[in-house]
Amino acid sequence: MLTPRQYRQMSKKKFLSLPENRWCCLCGARADTEDHFPPRDFFRDRVAPQGYRFPSCASCNRLKRLDEQAMSLIMHIQGHWGDLPTLREKLRAVFNNRRDVFDAIRPMKGVARKRYFRNKFGSTDVARQLGYTDMEIVEFGPPITKIFDSFCCWLGQTLYFHHNGEILHGEVFSSVLLRESFFAQEFQSLLDRLPGIADIRANSHSLHEQFFYRYNAMEGALFAIVQFGNPQFFFVIMAMSKEKTPTVSTGLESWSRSGLIGPEPRR
Ligand SMILES: [Zn+2]
Repeated sequence: MLTPRQYRQMSKKKFLSLPENRWCCLCGARADTEDHFPPRDFFRDRVAPQGYRFPSCASCNRLKRLDEQAMSLIMHIQGHWGDLPTLREKLRAVFNNRRDVFDAIRPMKGVARKRYFRNKFGSTDVARQLGYTDMEIVEFGPPITKIFDSFCCWLGQTLYFHHNGEILHGEVFSSVLLRESFFAQEFQSLLDRLPGIADIRANSHSLHEQFFYRYNAMEGALFAIVQFGNPQFFFVIMAMSKEKTPTVSTGLESWSRSGLIGPEPRR
């Protein structure tokens, strides 16, 4: 039996040789690489949390790359981490590889920013009390919504695998909540139903201020609210096995739905 520490420090080859890591946790094909999720680029100095590595096939790994790059830029802007050279590097990468995404990110400045606070909160003062004024407010266009959907699906699949110890054969429902919802009654009662507190660390350092989630893992389902940095928004994730997926989706109309994902379970 391996200790958690030995498991974390294991080489890629050894990691992939374990029976539970034989198949890609996203598509079920033979896993031939390991994937860090959330990606290392999301973290300061690329120091990713331990235990968040997953068996993946080369094709899934490659498909995610450009979306992850774009996501990393969005996180960097709204979460206030990293330095200016890193930000420039990320901007350049997205400019070169995903021009549509680059054009869809609009940090709000000056008058537009004031107007946003006024419309959203009534006044800049209220926004300040809620901790909004010391952060970058970003407006997102449609290509980014699409990236959010894919990202939430990967979050659902990987967190399900992480906590439930099996590949998700089912669906991911997701929703992006703006920070102001945090103070709403519904949001608080949702949090109360998520007793699990993710232990996010690298060596002995907590990485909670960069990545954190509350969750509830049960047979065939994983619920989580995920945040990165000091967020403008939260990701609400429901990963459900085929058996648990509701046939009637009343109340889920405003949620994004991944559609059936994952392979038939393999042994
Ligand atoms: Zn795959």
